Amino acid sequence: MIATKIYDVAVVGAGVFGGWTALQLARRGKRVLLLDAYGPGHSRASSGDESRIIRMGYGADEIYTRWSQRSLVQWKELFAATGNEALFRKTGVLWLAEAENPQLQATKVFCSVMAWSLRN
Ligand SMILES: Cc1cc2nc3c(=O)[nH]c(=O)nc-3n(C[C@H](O)[C@H](O)[C@H](O)COP(=O)(O)OP(=O)(O)OC[C@H]3O[C@@H](n4cnc5c(N)ncnc54)[C@H](O)[C@@H]3O)c2cc1C
Repeated sequence: MIATKIYDVAVVGAGVFGGWTALQLARRGKRVLLLDAYGPGHSRASSGDESRIIRMGYGADEIYTRWSQRSLVQWKELFAATGNEALFRKTGVLWLAEAENPQLQATKVFCSVMAWSLRN
C-alpha cells in the first residue's frame, strides 16, 4: 500500500531562505513539505557548513541592515527554542577598507543614527 500525504505547500531548497520560509508557513498552520537535493543541513548550500556570520553593515542599502537586525533576533529565538543557544557566538569584526569607502561611510552614518535613536 502506498501512503499518501497531502501538503499545502512544497518548498524546494532547504537553505536559509527555504528553511525559514517553511518554518514560517508551518507556524501559520500550513502543512509544508521541505525538499532538498542533498538532505538537511549539508555543506553544499551557500548558507550551510560550519559557520556563517550575521553582519549589519550594508551602507546605503539600509533595508538589508534592518533585515539583518531583525533576523538576529529571530535566529536567537530559534536557538533558544531548540536549546541550542551556543550556536550563536558574538564576536568582533575586523573590517578593512579605504577611509573614503562609500559603503563604510554610509554604514557609519546609519550606525550613528541608530545609536542616537536608541539613546533618545
Ligand atoms: C561561500 C559563501 C559564504 C557565505 N557566507 C555568508 C555569511 O557568512 N553570512 C551571510 O549572511 N551570507 C553569506 N553568504 C551568502 C548567503 O549564504 C546566501 O545569500 C544565502 O545562503 C542564500 O540562501 P539560499 O537559501 O537562497 O541558498 P542556499 O543556502 O544555497 O540553499 C539552496 C538550497 O537549495 C538546494 N537546491 C538547489 N537546487 C535544488 C533542486 N533542484 N532541488 C532540490 N534542492 C535544491 C540546495 O541543495 C541548497 O540546500 C555566503 C555565500 C557563500 C557562497
